[in-house]
Amino acid sequence: MEFEPVIGLEVHAQLKTATKIFCACPTTFGNAPNANTCPVCTGMPGVLPVLNQKAVTFAIRAALATHCTIAEESRFDRKNYFYPDLPKGYQISQYAAPIAEHGRLEIETEPAGAKTIGITRIHMEEDAGKLIHDPSRGKSLVDLNRTGIPLIEIVSEPDMRSPAEAGAYLRKLHAILKYIDVCDGNMEQGSFRCDANISLRPAGHTALGTRTELKNLNSFRHVEKAVQYEIDRQTSVLAQGEAVVQETRLWDPEKNRTVSMRGKEEAHDYRYFPDPDLVPLIVDNEWIQQVSDHMPELPDEKKARFMARYQLSDYDARVLTADIHLADFFETTMSDLSNAKQTANWITTTLLGLLNAKGIDITQSPVSADNFAALMGLLESNTITATVAKTVFEDMAQTGIDPKKIVKQKGLEQVSDSTELATLVDTILAENPDEVTAFRNGKNKLFSFFMGQVMKQTRGKADPKTVTPILQSKLKSEK
Ligand code: ADP
Ligand code: MG
Ligand code: ZN
Repeated sequence: MEFEPVIGLEVHAQLKTATKIFCACPTTFGNAPNANTCPVCTGMPGVLPVLNQKAVTFAIRAALATHCTIAEESRFDRKNYFYPDLPKGYQISQYAAPIAEHGRLEIETEPAGAKTIGITRIHMEEDAGKLIHDPSRGKSLVDLNRTGIPLIEIVSEPDMRSPAEAGAYLRKLHAILKYIDVCDGNMEQGSFRCDANISLRPAGHTALGTRTELKNLNSFRHVEKAVQYEIDRQTSVLAQGEAVVQETRLWDPEKNRTVSMRGKEEAHDYRYFPDPDLVPLIVDNEWIQQVSDHMPELPDEKKARFMARYQLSDYDARVLTADIHLADFFETTMSDLSNAKQTANWITTTLLGLLNAKGIDITQSPVSADNFAALMGLLESNTITATVAKTVFEDMAQTGIDPKKIVKQKGLEQVSDSTELATLVDTILAENPDEVTAFRNGKNKLFSFFMGQVMKQTRGKADPKTVTPILQSKLKSEK
């Protein structure tokens, strides 16, 4: 029997507020354990939570960017469970009445193309703390700095059908949250983390199969690998005539497999009830309008503009707008240039190649946008050849020096003086009589040998457009 995978994702995104959701403690990462705490976020008796208005504004922004309907009235509930990183014994979350529902997000995958993924809901909640296990002392330490940091949880419909679609959805959502500046997107620090729900069903059926849930995946690659593993595992369970057990599983990135963690809890296990300390949250049209008026350009809009304004291909525009900082880098570079295609090529191949090799992102690029623009300018004005530009780029990546200085110091200006190049070609032909004869006897491939010699002798500085006709005429003559 053929099975179809069904995937739904829950994303927890940390909002970029300066203070926590229900108290004035700072949200800064990396402070001494428990430095960012107060009686409210440590759950002392008698304290009262006060909702952070900025967190609501950020949630509204995320809701608008994902085309959700925003509830005029939403409420906070208590989700009760015991765990040492949750001092109150409950998490404040929105359960029955979330702030936003019924959104959507467009993804693109190869070769399937564009697809719309439904967003079920976005709700606001507080984060829990962190346990640091110290097996050498047989102890676990509790750090409550993260307790009460504002989160939004974005729940998708079970609309994805492959690991690639799950990856595309997450990358797009991640990009959007960074574009609208509500989440720093730092996955290593847990600012953007994902639970993946996976089930299989017989191809053509509409009812959902039994799912497993993979908790706290913190990289796109992990999600894709873990989802694929789960699809394969469930396929073999079903192929053996057994049933998939509804449970929560963990991905082990070292062993490349998922392991069972616990039986999946049901909503009634949490004894949700309205938090009596918080009044309903009212979001009026005026507030929504204010947020909407300050919405920045979103990835799809930027991509369309890049294609129209710079005549870029769909592919180039998509790569450049996948990250807002990369898009900004491209536009800064282009501000005094005209050859967008050339700049796009250099960014998507050479620059991204360098960043990938170093495992860093564009904000950490050793080549600044200004210096990169200067290099592209030298190419556009034909001051240097593409070959020389590559070596200058490598130099810049090492030293961070202005490319104009590098070119001047090393004398790398392009040679396009035809008299000078003709003399050089004469010398090269004289030095390689056998190759000249072979070429004249029909071995056309040797043309690139002669071009190579010219480039070698000029250290890549000769303008190929000037050299080609000179070589052609001199090789032909004396026949
Ligand atoms: P929770 O996991 O907190 O109990 P839900 O039941 O609302 O919450 O489901 C959460 C996520 O699981 C959603 O993204 C939803 O699309 C997805 N999901 C629900 N049922 C299935 C299923 N049978 N197969 C795959 N995904 C599912
Ligand atoms: Mg879940
Ligand atoms: Zn606090």
